[in-house]
Amino acid sequence: MTEIESDHPRAESLRVREKLVNGFEKGLVVPEGLSAHGRGEAFDYILGEETSNLARKAIETATATLLEAENPVISVNGNTAALVPGEVVELAGEVGAKIEVNLFHRSPEREKLIAEHLISHGASEVLGVEEEFAARIPEIHSDRRKVDERGIKAADVVLVPLEDGDRTEALKELGKTVIAIDLNPMSRTAQAADVTIVDNIVRSLPLMIKEARDLSEVSSNKREGAVWGFDNEQNLGSTINLMLGRLEELSQT
Ligand code: ATP
Repeated sequence: MTEIESDHPRAESLRVREKLVNGFEKGLVVPEGLSAHGRGEAFDYILGEETSNLARKAIETATATLLEAENPVISVNGNTAALVPGEVVELAGEVGAKIEVNLFHRSPEREKLIAEHLISHGASEVLGVEEEFAARIPEIHSDRRKVDERGIKAADVVLVPLEDGDRTEALKELGKTVIAIDLNPMSRTAQAADVTIVDNIVRSLPLMIKEARDLSEVSSNKREGAVWGFDNEQNLGSTINLMLGRLEELSQT
C-alpha cells in the first residue's frame, strides 16, 4: 500500500483511490469502475471536494424517502462495496432497507465476492446472488437486467449509488422511486432519478446515516414535508450553477 502524506493537498482523494485499488486487487472492482471513479473525481474537484448545501438538501429528502418507503432497497456495485461497505450496512439498518448486489459488469464470482465483503462488514443478508431468486427487468436488454425478486423487483424505493443511465431509466419505467448518488449532475442517471445527491459517496453515506438517526426522531408528517418541498430538476440546475460559479472564481485566481 502506498504511503500517503497527510499534508498532501489531495490526501483524502488519494486515500479514496487506494481503497478502490485495493478493491480492484480483491476482485470487487472492475477496470471500468476505476475509470468511472475518475469521471466522478473530475466533478468533485470542481465542487471543491465538499458537500454542498444543495447536496445536503437532497440527502435530507433521500433519507426521508427511504424512511417512509415500504420496501426500500440499496443497490450495491463494486465501487460502492470497495469504498463504503460498512456505511451501506449501517444505512440499511437505520432505514430498514435490504441490500442487493447489482452489477453492470456481471459475473457470479464477483457478485458472491461483493456479498461476502458486505457480510464481513456486518450485513446479515445480501440479495442479488442466488440464481433461484433472479428476476429480469423487461425494459433492459442483456444480462444487466437481472434483479432479485425479493429485492429491487419488489421495492418501492431504490437507492442506486453510481448507477448507469439505462438501468436508472428502466427502474423509473417500472414505477420505482429512484434515489441516485452521482457526482455528475448531467449524467442520465442524475437526470432520471427522483432525488439526486450530487456528492461523493464517501461523504454522502455518513451524512445519510446521521440524517436517518435525526429523522427517525421526528414525526412522519415532518419527514413527508422534507420530501414534498424538493424539486430535483431545480436542485440539479442550481448545482450546475454552483459549479459554474466555482469555475468562474477559479478563473480569476
Ligand atoms: P449515465 O449512464 O448515467 O449517463 P455515465 O455513463 O457517465 O452515466 P457511469 O460510468 O455508468 O456513468 O457511472 C459512473 C458515474 O458515477 C459517473 O457519473 C460519475 O460521476 C459517478 N461517480 C463515480 N465515482 C463516484 C463517487 N465516488 N461518488 C459519487 N459519484 C461517483
